[in-house]
Amino acid sequence: EVFNVSELIAQVVDRLQKNACKSQVIKFDIQPDIEIKADKFAITNVITNLIENAVKYSPPCATVFVKLKEEGANLLFSVEDHGEGIPDEEKKLIFNKFYRVGSEATRKTKGTGLGLYIVKTVLQKHRASIRVKDNKPSGSIFEVTFENYAS
Ligand code: ATP
Ligand code: MG
Repeated sequence: EVFNVSELIAQVVDRLQKNACKSQVIKFDIQPDIEIKADKFAITNVITNLIENAVKYSPPCATVFVKLKEEGANLLFSVEDHGEGIPDEEKKLIFNKFYRVGSEATRKTKGTGLGLYIVKTVLQKHRASIRVKDNKPSGSIFEVTFENYAS
């Protein structure tokens, strides 16, 4: 189905924002009225998982940036945090089923380790890819690229 992904992102951000000041999710640089043809339910899941992670792995009230922009024929969606960051050797592994960084003894958060596996699986079905890189001065950037999204 075709839907307005700019609006969808705004709705997800609004909903997550209501969880008070657990984190301060900020809409930033969302290009308006971008339409994509995709499984809306699955893409909602992707957006939610990435923003929830950014909040979950950041200090309380830390700012999270959400961006959406066209770049040539591609559409870029990114979620950027200033949280704990992800060591280079873990960056590939976090997309694996049930994988979580660290050990039961050192982890401060709970989770199943399924979120990013689902994200990756959904994106593979949508001619889209995801990569993770370091943010400055700390934290992570998850960047999703929808290729030739309008065609
Ligand atoms: P859930 O299934 O509830 O999402 P989860 O958050 O542990 O559980 P994933 O979303 O798949 O699982 O993430 C896998 C692991 O990657 C996390 O446990 C965490 O160690 C790391 N991770 C994911 N996002 C971030 C982030 N924004 N900053 C730092 N670490 C992250
Ligand atoms: Mg998660």
